[in-house]
Amino acid sequence: MTAKAAERDQELVHDARAAIAATLDELEIQPVAEFRAIREPAAEARALAEAIGDLEAAQRAALLEADVLLREGRIGEGGRMAHQARAWAEQNGSSYVLARAHRYLSIFYRLVGDTSDALNHAVQCVAHLAEDTLPAIRARHLMTLAVSLGDGGSPEEADRRYREALDTAVRIGDQELALLVLNNMTYSAYECGDEPAARQFADRMREVSARSGRPLGANELDTAARVDMMGGRYDAVEAALAGVLDGRLKVNEGDAAAECLITLAECRRLAGDYPQAQEALDRAVLECEKNGLGRLRAMCRQEQAALYAAAGRFEDAYEEHRLFHADSTALHSTQREARARALQAVFEANEARRASEHFREMAHRDALTGLYNRRYVNERLPALLGEAATRRTPISAAIVDLDHFKRINDTLSHATGDTVLQHIGKLLQEAATGPALAARMGGEEFLLIFPGIDATEAAERCERLRLRIRAHPWQPVTGAHPVTTSIGVTTVEDGRATVSALLSQADRNLYAAKRGGRDRVVTDLS
Ligand code: GH3
Ligand code: MG
Ligand code: MG
Repeated sequence: MTAKAAERDQELVHDARAAIAATLDELEIQPVAEFRAIREPAAEARALAEAIGDLEAAQRAALLEADVLLREGRIGEGGRMAHQARAWAEQNGSSYVLARAHRYLSIFYRLVGDTSDALNHAVQCVAHLAEDTLPAIRARHLMTLAVSLGDGGSPEEADRRYREALDTAVRIGDQELALLVLNNMTYSAYECGDEPAARQFADRMREVSARSGRPLGANELDTAARVDMMGGRYDAVEAALAGVLDGRLKVNEGDAAAECLITLAECRRLAGDYPQAQEALDRAVLECEKNGLGRLRAMCRQEQAALYAAAGRFEDAYEEHRLFHADSTALHSTQREARARALQAVFEANEARRASEHFREMAHRDALTGLYNRRYVNERLPALLGEAATRRTPISAAIVDLDHFKRINDTLSHATGDTVLQHIGKLLQEAATGPALAARMGGEEFLLIFPGIDATEAAERCERLRLRIRAHPWQPVTGAHPVTTSIGVTTVEDGRATVSALLSQADRNLYAAKRGGRDRVVTDLS
């Protein structure tokens, strides 16, 4: 490829990266109600990002797909993807992806009913955000934290985060977010039985909707209607929800429509209008059966039992209640199974991550002694030298070689030789305290690296090691055969040396130790 073509290629990749980032920025703040609309663009963004090697963008896109899965109820799959993104982010130091992954893990654990893990991840999803994160994103993370704090029984703490998220939404003019936060605030006040607060938030929600021209969605209408029902304002509920029944109000999500219809039925029953209540309830049942909504179908039975009872049909009420009870028992056991499966999926993703860490670690270890191997030294030593040179700190290296090891193999056995090597491995590991590390370079030759340790201390430590090896109780292993070592140690006081210069100097000193009679330490100054 010509230089010009290469340059153009680079420009294209640069442009593609920017385009993907812009798409993701937009998708990450899409309205919750339209979550299914995210699937395709997210999958496309992921494929593109992978094609140009932009792995961070690929993970962001994968998290959007996880979001859709979680909202659709494919909890196990969504949780597993969030978990994988988290592992990637931890390994690659991407705090943004890490914060996003924690957010979806929080949502995942909330869905499987594990409040304390949900809170844990919610805290992390805010903690990992950088100072300069877009306010629209920070506010959404704060809202996740607020929801978890509310579930965890800290309403004041929750309220503080809700308000901060709401203030941000208002400040940046993000109506979608403002409505989302207000809907959550309303619902949590409703659940706490705090009618004045719930009413205030619901009013505010209507205000924002009116001002922004974005009509309330079915979910929001249902929340507001429940607050009205709480205060006995049945006309208001009727006015808000009757449209779902007669088709004036289009509802996209199947479950939201059913939910509105159940609220409407309950409200009509409380208002004493039983035939109309029955009409709403029949429609709710239809919606549930059409969309396979098990939980809401059971709620319909419960409402039906109440409606029969209100009309004095106690036997029917009893029978319906019995069915409700059977349905919810079955439902709970399916839910328990689904939860178990979802947790299992995440657990497996976790295990896979640990296994891959384990394998990577294994690739860096010598099988016989468990010490680091030559490959690890080759990867790690340049960095250690670099750090020493940058900080102008000393670094020492020692090559440790067994004396007349061949004799042990020859006169005793190869197996005995192996046992000796294993013992030596342990003794070296003990000698490698602090930042020091011990490796087996091959055969009966070992390397110690002492970052931050000067010539005098390195010589002392090597001498102690030599004596320690010599004094080891070898008798049970080698009988009368002594086991000794020769050590060549070298130091660069300001860290300025290449790997090969460092190792050849240590090797020269080792050679001097052998020539000098073995069982000794030779330093640069010897
Ligand atoms: P010197 O004091 O000069 O170092 O003598 P030496 O006998 O230790 O050195 P030499 O390099 O001649 O022999 C090293 C021996 O180490 C040769 C080989 O059989 C043995 N060896 C290498 N790797 C292993 C191993 O994994 N297990 C065992 N048992 N022996 C090994
Ligand atoms: Mg040897
Ligand atoms: Mg040798």
